[in-house]
Amino acid sequence: MPIQHPTFARVLRLRLKDKHARALRERAYWVNQVWNYCNDLSIKVLRREHRFLSGFDFAPYLKGLGDEGIPLHSQTVQAIAEEYATRRKQFKKARLRWRVSNPDSSKYSLGWIPFKASAIAYRNGQVQFSGLGPLSLWDSYGLSNFELGAGSFSEDARGRWYLNITVKVWQAPTATSNQVLGIDLGLKTAATASNGDMLAAKHYHRLEKQLATAQRARKKDRMRAISAKIRNQRKDALHKFTAALVNDYGAIFIGNVSTAWQTATGNGKSVLDAGWGELKTQLLYKGERAGRWVEVVNEAYTTQTCSACGARTGPKGREGLGTRTWECPCGASHDRDVNAAINIAMAGLVGVEERVTTARLLREAKAAKAQERKTKLAANKAAKAAAAGHGRPVEGYTTL
Ligand SMILES: [Zn+2]
Repeated sequence: MPIQHPTFARVLRLRLKDKHARALRERAYWVNQVWNYCNDLSIKVLRREHRFLSGFDFAPYLKGLGDEGIPLHSQTVQAIAEEYATRRKQFKKARLRWRVSNPDSSKYSLGWIPFKASAIAYRNGQVQFSGLGPLSLWDSYGLSNFELGAGSFSEDARGRWYLNITVKVWQAPTATSNQVLGIDLGLKTAATASNGDMLAAKHYHRLEKQLATAQRARKKDRMRAISAKIRNQRKDALHKFTAALVNDYGAIFIGNVSTAWQTATGNGKSVLDAGWGELKTQLLYKGERAGRWVEVVNEAYTTQTCSACGARTGPKGREGLGTRTWECPCGASHDRDVNAAINIAMAGLVGVEERVTTARLLREAKAAKAQERKTKLAANKAAKAAAAGHGRPVEGYTTL
């Protein structure tokens, strides 16, 4: 059922924790030194020998920089030289701008540290970069799911650092990818999957306290910064949750939350609504890229129905909201939300093969139509060109 997608490279940008800024800036200073050395060497060789150095040509000159106390890995030094050679060629210049390390200068070059794939590794939620030790970051993409390639660390105008890294996206579906998953969206836990995975409706108590303090003090900038932090952490958790599910499951069905939403009250409603929307959006686009089937299904009665025997013996209505676990007369005991998620998966499976086939046919028809339009357009253009007396005559067009 899943459609096979080829792998392709993509650059992910992840924000590093600010505590590393100092160490990265120090490293960036040495990157600038190497860059400027390449620039200087490039000019000298051009004058003397009337030729440009390729990235590879720089290598013998850069050997042994480590012995001179430059704290950069030889691979990183080589990456700088290659980037220099590529950019110089790209801009068709004899030399490039010098990189300036003094942050007070108007010409300050924002920090930049390139690296090769071999210099970086992911371990336990952190990135290991040779010579710098483990770096903490906001892992919004679930880096553990990717094969890491070459990339760079870079600084923005506000002094924040990012990891920009190439990854291969969408490997062949994993062995478990034909499995089916249901997701129940709720109040206590933001989402519960039929495999028991849960996305907690997390509260960021420390941050929320800080936010309240800032609110009382009417510090608008501070309020904005803390709100953004909460939003980012929430999004981060969501990305991890959805990436793992899309990686492991071939078909994912999500309940349409109508009942849960109706029972939510007041302010919480809009927050939940936004979170659910984001969850669905992420699953839909990640699923699409990975060739997974993701669909929203009607969740009516999924909480009340026993997923083992099909009888409506479960918790009902407002009174039933407090019931977390229950037992059906058939003997099955259930976690309320996991049971609902299983029912959602089963509801989604009804008629799914037909819907998948229809979707595939529609997609193919659309692609064929686009191709046809393209061919027609090209023929028209050629005919016009031929009629105007230039260009190659098209087939079937009589010329004298
Ligand atoms: Zn039952």
